[in-house]
Amino acid sequence: METLYLTEIRRLGEERKLRLTWSDGHSADFDFDYVRGYCPCAGCQGHGSMRVDFHQPPEPVRPEKIEPVGNYAISIVWSDHHATGIYRFDFLRDLCPCEECTASRTS
Ligand SMILES: [Zn+2]
Ligand SMILES: [Zn+2]
Repeated sequence: METLYLTEIRRLGEERKLRLTWSDGHSADFDFDYVRGYCPCAGCQGHGSMRVDFHQPPEPVRPEKIEPVGNYAISIVWSDHHATGIYRFDFLRDLCPCEECTASRTS
């Protein structure tokens, strides 16, 4: 299978969601707090942790700025000024909250 990359990132301010679309045409809406809570940086996850856990943000956040990192990831500047998370495209796909992906993960 080809490496997946994001073809579109749309901020849905009203709904507080990020709409991500991948190169295979798959698309899903991610809650801002969901993405922030899964920030993969060492500051959020602790050093030496191989697994990324969800940490509920203390207050609702929104992305102020989204920037590409190479051709494999995005970085997000959050409204709480946190900006060290690098979200790989495949990592985001692993987090995809849509019914289809959730079902394929648990089976
Ligand atoms: Zn972080
Ligand atoms: Zn999905």
